[in-house]
This record gives sequence, structure tokens and C-alpha cells, in this order.
Amino acid sequence: MKTKRRLEEEKLIMEERKRMSKVKVKLEMMPCVKCGNDMPVLRKVKYGYNFCVNCSTTEKMGGVAIANHKTGNEIQIVPMDVANNINRLAARSGYGVCKGMKHN
Ligand SMILES: [Zn+2]
Repeated sequence: MKTKRRLEEEKLIMEERKRMSKVKVKLEMMPCVKCGNDMPVLRKVKYGYNFCVNCSTTEKMGGVAIANHKTGNEIQIVPMDVANNINRLAARSGYGVCKGMKHN
């Protein structure tokens, strides 16, 4: 059974969530040097990229789950084509050792 204090805490949390859902952060934008479309200023000043995501020639990376657990996964970051291939192969039915598990 929930205590009165616990109920009050939950009420406060719900009120805070409601309040925060109305807060909108406006991202400061700047034009991309290459294509002229908007890109976040943070992309340049914080991460050092000169072009927007669409103009970037940086290789795309992807994640592959290497350890699954009910409370969290461990992933390995690899090039996007490698990640897509591994994830495609791992999606086949019967892959892995836990066939008896739900959703596997
Ligand atoms: Zn661009």
C-alpha cells in the first residue's frame, strides 16, 4: 500500500512533468556553408562540424547489440554497412541460443 508521503511525491513528480512538457527549447540555427540550409550552431561550436548532416562526408556509424539483458544492452559501434549486415543476419529466426525466450 502506498503511503501518504509516497502519493504526495508522485503528485509532485506529475506536476513537474506537466510543467516541463510545456517548456520548448529553441535551437539556435545557422546556415550550412555548403547548401545554405539551417543547421544547429551547436553542431559547429560544440562538435566542430562545418557542414550540415546532409552535406557531411563523415562515414555513418551504427550500433550492434552484443549483450542483451533485461536491464540494459551493450552495443558495439561499427560502420553503418557492417551494423546493417550484422543486424540483418541476427534478425533471422533461430539465430542465437535463446530460442525458448519470448521475443527472440
Ligand atoms: Zn548542408
